[in-house]
Amino acid sequence: MAKARFEAIAESRTRKRIVIEEKGRRSDLFLQSVFNEERMLQYLTKDALESVQSAIFSGSKIDRKIADQVAEAMKGWAISMGATHYTHWFQPLTGSTAEKHDAFFDLLPDGRALEKFGGGQLVQQEPDASSFPSGGIRNTFEARGYTAWDPTSPAFIYETTLCIPTIFVSYTGEALDNKAPLLRALSAVDEAATAVAKYFDKNVSKVNATLGWEQEYFLIDKALADSRIDLRFTGRTLVGQAAAKGQQLDDHYFGTIPDRVLSFMSELEKECTKLGIPVKTRHNEVAPNQFELAPVFEEANLAVDHNLLLMDVMDKIAEKHQFKVLFHEKPFAGINGSGKHNNWSLATDTGVNLLSPGSTPMKNLQFLTFFINTIKAVDTYEELMRSSIASASNDHRLGANEAPPAIFSIFVGTQLSGVLDELEGVSMGKLSPEEKTELKLNVVGKIPEILMDNTDRNRTSPFAFTGNKFEIRGVGSKANCAKPMTVLNTIVAKQLIAFKKEVDALVDQKNLKKDEAVFNVLREYIKTSKRIRFDGDGYSEAWFKEAKKRKLSNNKTTPEALQILTSKESLALFKSMNVMSEVEVKARQEVELEAYILHLQIEGRILNELVYNQIIPAAMAYQNVLISNVCGLKEIYGASYKKLAVSQLQIIEEIAEHSTALKEKTDAMIASRKKANALKGTFKKATEYTEKVKPQFETIRVHSDKLERLLDDEFWPLTKYSELLFIK
Ligand code: ADP
Ligand code: MG
Repeated sequence: MAKARFEAIAESRTRKRIVIEEKGRRSDLFLQSVFNEERMLQYLTKDALESVQSAIFSGSKIDRKIADQVAEAMKGWAISMGATHYTHWFQPLTGSTAEKHDAFFDLLPDGRALEKFGGGQLVQQEPDASSFPSGGIRNTFEARGYTAWDPTSPAFIYETTLCIPTIFVSYTGEALDNKAPLLRALSAVDEAATAVAKYFDKNVSKVNATLGWEQEYFLIDKALADSRIDLRFTGRTLVGQAAAKGQQLDDHYFGTIPDRVLSFMSELEKECTKLGIPVKTRHNEVAPNQFELAPVFEEANLAVDHNLLLMDVMDKIAEKHQFKVLFHEKPFAGINGSGKHNNWSLATDTGVNLLSPGSTPMKNLQFLTFFINTIKAVDTYEELMRSSIASASNDHRLGANEAPPAIFSIFVGTQLSGVLDELEGVSMGKLSPEEKTELKLNVVGKIPEILMDNTDRNRTSPFAFTGNKFEIRGVGSKANCAKPMTVLNTIVAKQLIAFKKEVDALVDQKNLKKDEAVFNVLREYIKTSKRIRFDGDGYSEAWFKEAKKRKLSNNKTTPEALQILTSKESLALFKSMNVMSEVEVKARQEVELEAYILHLQIEGRILNELVYNQIIPAAMAYQNVLISNVCGLKEIYGASYKKLAVSQLQIIEEIAEHSTALKEKTDAMIASRKKANALKGTFKKATEYTEKVKPQFETIRVHSDKLERLLDDEFWPLTKYSELLFIK
């Protein structure tokens, strides 16, 4: 019965460490596999290079002749690097990445063979990708989608394939992916932020959103992970008793990294470095077998691509080291889950971080402008921010006593709270020269260049200011960062446009100086966005009550959270910022709800299989052993056997009790699932799954975990937490 489990354990014990050379300078490897500007310089004519650079800087179109040149150059370089195939690499709404490989190899009409790759193939492809979810955008007669080159993210070679980052759009132009809306949001925030940054420095001509993600993950021996169908098919354990020792001693956190893991990490980092992913930090996380990897931050579109690429590369390299990476937000009950903090800021092409306080009052006024506008934007659209990180797997964290709560609030720290409070108290309208000096010296001037608060770590806050950037803490470890990045940059763009309009109006109509106008508007924003600021304990009951009073949303589940996407305000927002049309937003909501339902459906089915095919049979088998023992005792001792069989009888009864309950609860869950499946409309169905089906998973688990405790170890069929979780 437990054979598979024992074989997996035996196999996991035979692992030898793959020795990876740690020596050598990482900087020598950096960008080796990337067709970056330096390489373009080598391979392209001046005209072609300028055309690509202008496409990167301002989004201008690249004409076909230039595209042919670029393609020729890319091909030459790729083949010299040993590549045989190329692919348009894109991000369908499934959340991961997709690729369809074509060989450079081609035949001429006369039968001669050659390596071919032209501008046409570089710029646009038509993968037969009609099975990707489109939320109804594509019906069958226009089922085709096109991928189109995104020159802002450089092509790279992975293994023997030249990968070209692309967007994925429908025949009629609607975005079918996560990248296209992100690029539009980044362009919106560029335009809006550049206009505002010009108040402070006329030389600014572009603003880039920056993103530094921190990827958490679990690493499990491959044989052990494969031995459980729940891990294989759902990415998490649906049942399983906590190990006697979990994370309570905090001995894993920042501890010595086990050898076997270290060699995996070394190889991973080398590979990433070649691919241009600037990985920098690695350490153990809180839970056993949990780790984190973080790069240096980059322009947001590139950072999103790099995170997706990283997840792919991790899977492959883990396989080589006989590991399985778990990106699921909550693979194990009773120990921490995983997230992916998104550190975000805005940077000018003049090299200034707009969320970094400076050494002069003017620089600090610029900082306050972007800082307060971000706060105001998140206050206005807090519910939309929450929706951007919603998923079935992330529901295990948000609103479930772990990670930040489902309520969005902003932590700014005591120092900056003080500054905002003082600014709020300043009188309105025109300022006398004395008032202005006072304001600049004593309020704005008080912001130190380096904020002490950046060491202030309130881990319960979902959106925290950490010295020179904001950090979104609720993003799921499995998620595509494009989603929260699209929303955040869109709402900040919208907010900055409104801000500029108000400031300009005060200057034109009320005759205020620009800095006075800025102060006036910011002061209003501080007042009207107060409810979103919260520095206290985000997990406390008191905060839930307070947040309700402040009318902040608290959407604990994905179906609830996704509703806001299609509100009148949200649709107007996305449309006015040219980020998504109504059709595109509705399609996304539909796709997300469907994905949610499918995830729960699969979990329900796997649970059913586990209970009927593995757990109950194991319980019966062990019960039979006890029964024969009792029968044997009766045969030998006659009527006095009972005294000798007390514990056996108790266990027999307990097994019966939990097996019966397990079967009953599982049958009830299946019935609820069938009922949910019969409902029409994705929202209705998703809600039914949330309210009626999902809660039963937990009761089923309780009885299974009781049986795990009761059964002889030899009989228990599922690899246990204590066996899965401690890599040597
Ligand atoms: P933590 O304690 O949350 O792990 P770290 O300081 O180690 O914090 O990580 C901070 C992350 O923030 C890094 O991934 C880094 O690249 C990123 N980061 C730093 N500055 C910026 C910025 N200006 N924009 C975006 N991300 C940034
Ligand atoms: Mg962090």
